Amino acid sequence: MRSEKVVSMTEVLPNMRVQPAECDKHGPYEQKVTVILNRELKGGCPECQRLANEEREAATEANRAYEIRLSIARKLGDALIPKRFIARTLENYQVESDGQRKALSFCKRYVQVFDEILKTGRCMVMIGKPGTGKTHLGVAMANELLHNTSRTAVYRTVGAILQAIRATYDRHSERSEAEILSSLVTPDLLVLDEVGVSKEQPSDFELTTLFAIINGRYEQERPTVVISNLDAGQLSGAMGERCVDRLREGGMIVVPFEWESQRGKEGF
Ligand SMILES: [Zn+2]
Repeated sequence: MRSEKVVSMTEVLPNMRVQPAECDKHGPYEQKVTVILNRELKGGCPECQRLANEEREAATEANRAYEIRLSIARKLGDALIPKRFIARTLENYQVESDGQRKALSFCKRYVQVFDEILKTGRCMVMIGKPGTGKTHLGVAMANELLHNTSRTAVYRTVGAILQAIRATYDRHSERSEAEILSSLVTPDLLVLDEVGVSKEQPSDFELTTLFAIINGRYEQERPTVVISNLDAGQLSGAMGERCVDRLREGGMIVVPFEWESQRGKEGF
């Protein structure tokens, strides 16, 4: 037979009530008190609980973003943004003219509404003379997404991409061409710099590579920011007509950089 103290059913069934309580951070709240076996279990502040849940969800999302970024960097065999550019932000872009102010506000807006941009894959083309700060703003948008959102962004020059792909043809290469291309198609944003940098006609290799990237992103409805020293009319010669058609789909935003070079002034 049982020798322990027998507890009655009324004691075992939890009994709930609500009483007024005060949170140090959030002030008064209705505290839930559960009474079980004569023990009072007091609930916490619901606002504190809500914030804790939010933090936990954010952490999971951050982990997921971290994993995606890591896998893209692995395929690229390098950082998402080259080291020498990681300090370039929208905040430290030097504004000295109306044109620059306008360009900066276009770029700020682009990242602010990036979730909307992602729905249509709306591309941006930054065109104009060398030394007008296009690269700074392009990198800054990528940095902003990487640091302040869970989105993934990659910055590359066309030259660096072609070189990375050629390197995969070496039979000792750890990476394949497909991996490099996938690392440029997968990110939420790709900033593609130095399009048409050489005055010569692009090679077939260059044209097909650009098309593979731009078309791959177009099919996934992922936006691309293209940076070029050419003017808008010369772009199709440098990238191919089909590429520019893909960029135009969804309403390409053209940001002109028409002011004189700032390079001398800033001591580049
Ligand atoms: Zn609280």
